[in-house]
Amino acid sequence: MPIRKTGLYLHVPFCRNICAYCDFKRVVNDDRLRLMWMDALKQEIDSKQDILGQCYFDTLYLGGGTPSVLTMDELTIIMGWLKPYLFTVKEATIEANSEDIDDQWIDGILRLGFNRLSIGLESDDFNQLMAMRRKSNYQTVKHGINRAKAHGLTNINVDLIYGLPDSTMEKWQATMKHVMDLDVPHISMYALSLEENSIWGKNHVKPVDDELMADMMKQGIQWLHQCGYTRYEISNFTKNQPSLHNLHYWHYDDFIGLGYGSSGKWLNHRYDHCDHLMPYLKGNVEWMMIEETLDDIRNDYIMMNTRLKQRFDFKVYNDVFHDDFYQRYHTRLKQCKIKGYIDYDRDGLTMTDYGLDCQFSFLSDLLD
Ligand code: SF4
Repeated sequence: MPIRKTGLYLHVPFCRNICAYCDFKRVVNDDRLRLMWMDALKQEIDSKQDILGQCYFDTLYLGGGTPSVLTMDELTIIMGWLKPYLFTVKEATIEANSEDIDDQWIDGILRLGFNRLSIGLESDDFNQLMAMRRKSNYQTVKHGINRAKAHGLTNINVDLIYGLPDSTMEKWQATMKHVMDLDVPHISMYALSLEENSIWGKNHVKPVDDELMADMMKQGIQWLHQCGYTRYEISNFTKNQPSLHNLHYWHYDDFIGLGYGSSGKWLNHRYDHCDHLMPYLKGNVEWMMIEETLDDIRNDYIMMNTRLKQRFDFKVYNDVFHDDFYQRYHTRLKQCKIKGYIDYDRDGLTMTDYGLDCQFSFLSDLLD
């Protein structure tokens, strides 16, 4: 079996409190549930030894939920279980609540091999943070980042959300200005999307209107560019350190997901875990393969790769799918170029900024 270069994602489902917009798989932190989850996770890791042993992991990502709610002892135990598979990892990211970050915590994660930190700020507006039910704020995020930098941990991402209820361009500008002052190499900027299972979704809270949403996106991108950030993916901007782990998703590489809230892709087949935490805690740690047609896989590949500013190389696609991308799509490529979504030649295409802004429309024109 070939050694496969890929990423390892571990989903930690616990959060200190539940944010109003959040629809992820997460539960309120609980000591007893955490112990049960550790047992189930160990069971999953043990049952997948063969597959884990065949992977050449160059990235690790602990996300959630909130991995920083784990105690350092728990984190150390988990990293011990994974250690046999992690010796080739170049980038190891951990998501954290800014309130959990102090010198001791940073020291601990550095000892465990983490070299990248991802922190959610979302907004710096006090009322918006209160409405979102978030405990962190600009000051705690700034403090966390300063502690990390003081220990030499500089590869840091900050998450932002635009289009929050009650937003104005002035508030958005103030948030962006403060974020620039943090001087981190990576910023993720997402439009608020309200799923019906979130607290806001259930209460029929609405984001700002479409026009303001679009203006906030455009303005946000412009400010980021002015401050030296390059847009390398629809919602992701960096000065010089893109997320190597997320690039695995966007390149549609295989990746392994562990933990009930994760999905993965192994030998080009996507898999999921059981939908709820309780069955997982009771030992249902199996991977459930997702049925997909070749067309589904091909379309997913195109959808993920065209999220990137990086050139989409037709030869790579042709080798993966034994197909001829240019032959298959050349008429539609021409239309997409006329609409301003892409530039292309016989060997590849590059998304324009406009194409990234409305990738959904581009995909409809290309694939439907
Ligand atoms: S947004 Fe993040 S921190 Fe908030 S509840 Fe969801 S997973 Fe937890």
